[in-house]
Amino acid sequence: MIQASTKLFAVLGEAVAHSLSPRVQNSAFQEVGVDGVYVALGCTSGELGGLIRGIACAGGGGNVTLPHKEAAAAIVDEPSELVLQTGACNTFWLAKGRIHGDNTDVAGFRGAVESFLGRTPVGSSVLLLGAGGAARAALVGLIRDNVGSVFIWNRTVERAERLASDLGQDRTRVIHSKEELGGQAFDLIINSTSLGMATDDPLPLDLSQAQRPGAILDLVYRPDETALVREARKLEIPAADGGEMLVRQGAKAFEQWWDRPAPLAVMMEALKQFRSEMLGGTKQDEKGDQ
Ligand code: NAP
Repeated sequence: MIQASTKLFAVLGEAVAHSLSPRVQNSAFQEVGVDGVYVALGCTSGELGGLIRGIACAGGGGNVTLPHKEAAAAIVDEPSELVLQTGACNTFWLAKGRIHGDNTDVAGFRGAVESFLGRTPVGSSVLLLGAGGAARAALVGLIRDNVGSVFIWNRTVERAERLASDLGQDRTRVIHSKEELGGQAFDLIINSTSLGMATDDPLPLDLSQAQRPGAILDLVYRPDETALVREARKLEIPAADGGEMLVRQGAKAFEQWWDRPAPLAVMMEALKQFRSEMLGGTKQDEKGDQ
């Protein structure tokens, strides 16, 4: 029941009107019996600081999504090591009068990869498509899991080079043209570009350009399958989209706010129900990472 003591949590972003997070988090809050409510608040970058400070100082917290994660990293008082490494903050809360920020996309990514592959990517050869915020979280996760090597391809090569030199240690190589992929064999291809969010987007990679990979993980989430996942399945390549990462980053955020284990199974079930309602209804174009 919402009452005077109820704490407010929110996802803050530009296009959050049909965000998945309220459904997933409110199911978790109810399951565990914590006194909180989670809503979605659309905001501009100019409004972000006031909202983060106001919500946190009132005892609540929340998430930050596109396009404000980098801005949030500069707003919180106590950025975690992962925020400093990735330059992006997607979770905030108040502790001892200070606003803390974390990047739970890293934990969400690592958990989703392990669940998808049935093992961590230790020693694996990975092709990472993209070099934005999601790629930064993915690369930090891969390095922490002792990946073997990571090839990075991005439309803007300079951004891929910056990513490799900031975070890639000695295990990354930047691809300058997709032709360079011809001779390479990858255990895992990860799409961290935003291609696939819209139904008419081209595929982020023509799968005939590289040797057949062991598996494909698309970080893009839509209620229906992404085109890349559909294409991979046609070729009988194991594939998954960003749904599980999304729920797992939310579970890690829940643990930061409430200091107790998140009910992951309940949160995964909320994702499943949300997806089937969206597909049954009229909102087939909704997508995002919160
Ligand atoms: P971002 O920082 O804006 O980066 C976007 C990336 O996509 C960049 O690498 C960009 O390349 C590339 N890109 C955009 N349009 C392109 C095009 N037309 N052709 C080729 N490349 C293009 O965004 P982000 O935060 O990394 O998010 C990327 C995707 O990951 C989004 O779909 C987001 O929803 C998803 N995501 C999912 C989760 C999850 O939990 N499942 C978490 C985080 C993000 P340039 O550098 O050349 O512009």
